[in-house]
Amino acid sequence: MRATVIPAPQPVLLDVEGVTEQFPVRRVYCVGRNYADHAIEMGHDPSREPPFFFQKNPDNLYNGESFPYPPLSSNVHFEVELVMALASGGADIAEADALSKVYGYGVGIDFTRRDLQDQMKKMGRSWEVAKAFEKSAPVSALIPASKIGHPQKGAIWLDVNGERKQTGDLNQMIWKLPEIIAELSKLFVLAPGDVIMTGTPAGVGPIVKGDRISFGCEGVAELSLSVV
Ligand code: MN
Repeated sequence: MRATVIPAPQPVLLDVEGVTEQFPVRRVYCVGRNYADHAIEMGHDPSREPPFFFQKNPDNLYNGESFPYPPLSSNVHFEVELVMALASGGADIAEADALSKVYGYGVGIDFTRRDLQDQMKKMGRSWEVAKAFEKSAPVSALIPASKIGHPQKGAIWLDVNGERKQTGDLNQMIWKLPEIIAELSKLFVLAPGDVIMTGTPAGVGPIVKGDRISFGCEGVAELSLSVV
């Protein structure tokens, strides 16, 4: 590699359960409104419109035990989500081939500055300021699909201070994992290191500094963190 004129950014790396090697992150895609109950609570029709996608920044992802409450918002919401990590990619991936591209899975939170998102929606603007802020996506260590397979059902949940806030089942996804990969690969060329956050079930809500959040996805992972 040629020398760089400023220090090159460090790659974003996520832990993998049980091994010392880490998973390098290239891009982060998120699916909007992928559980009917959540679409309804956000005021939308849960019918099967084409899925829509937005992105976070790769370095918004991290393995950590705390979430720093971000600036310029007084209404930050949790959204617990199954996370898919790709080992390979391509364009126009067939549904039948899609799961063969997946390295593994984790569980994470798509933290959202809901007040800023509402403002952006009203003005017809994009959501980056609401979604792609620092430390907005804490995730568990990844578990290889070679160990757990490809989850199609199982509870997904989130507690705040011991009280259950979000519950759902992976089988309630409007767009299933192979469909998400196939649809996304029509829009973007997917590649190794791409991470996809697959949408959240109903029950999203606000957090405050000092809250303790526990969340998990049955058969995949569990994680707890503090809001600081
Ligand atoms: Mn989300």
